[in-house]
Amino acid sequence: MQQTAFNSYQGPGAPAGAALVQAEHLTHFIQTPTQKITILNDVSFSIPLQSMFAIIGPSGSGKSTLLNILTGIDRPSSGRIIFAGEEIRAKGENQLARWRGQHVGIVFQFFQLVPTLTALENVLLALELGRNKAPRSSWRAIALHCLEIVDLKGYEKRLPSELSGGQQQRVAIARALANDPPVIIADEPTGNLDSQMAYAIFDILVNLTRRGKTILYVTHDLDLAKKATAGIMLRDGRIVNAFNANAVIAAPPTPMRYSPGAQEQGGLR
Ligand code: ADP
Ligand code: MG
Repeated sequence: MQQTAFNSYQGPGAPAGAALVQAEHLTHFIQTPTQKITILNDVSFSIPLQSMFAIIGPSGSGKSTLLNILTGIDRPSSGRIIFAGEEIRAKGENQLARWRGQHVGIVFQFFQLVPTLTALENVLLALELGRNKAPRSSWRAIALHCLEIVDLKGYEKRLPSELSGGQQQRVAIARALANDPPVIIADEPTGNLDSQMAYAIFDILVNLTRRGKTILYVTHDLDLAKKATAGIMLRDGRIVNAFNANAVIAAPPTPMRYSPGAQEQGGLR
């Protein structure tokens, strides 16, 4: 298979470990009729190139909001994001949507494949929606290559209903890879899988860092959090702990440990 279908992102001449994304003083409010709710409060950190970057924290701490802001789906109330040397806040809506298609691949907890399309067609759809710049005649080869990367050779013609949960998530990862983005973002990618499948999916994500990708993931699983090469812990919209993330920590660091009694709050404290 031609390697040209899948070029590793080099960044602006940056070596592995350099900051791919810098978040600077991100603050996000939501204004309800009666009050102003602070969802993110002065969050600053950087994501090293080719890292497995974990965002952890109790439910409601702002993890999903932060992911949406980092991908330009939501705009922060204040602060800025520098992505591979470029500020994303400055872009207009259409420009931002196109930028997202080329720079970020998203993997969801519940896979979100199109049920009436085969594995191959689901990946082809991403090439179409991302207006992939490669010649249309090469799209099939690119999609097959992405399915091969996630070990799904031979499953191209299966519908999602003919695949296990783990296999469906692998199709979703192949789809996220279709436009060769430098970053894969995954909000609890293994949250809907049994632990054996979860670890297999996680290994696929780890292998992608060796192909030049940076993986940004949210997890509630302490074992998966421990496998991160960098990460931050949020609580009430602030960074309370971090490693290899150049983060500004809002409160005295607390050791990352699992507290079974705290499961209702998300487990990680
Ligand atoms: P997490 O992903 O860590 O569970 P979220 O980012 O989804 O946290 O939410 C953080 C906080 O912001 C929660 O308290 C949530 O209720 C609140 N929140 C998120 N989006 C909205 C919204 N559109 N309107 C009001 N509150 C919101
Ligand atoms: Mg969430």
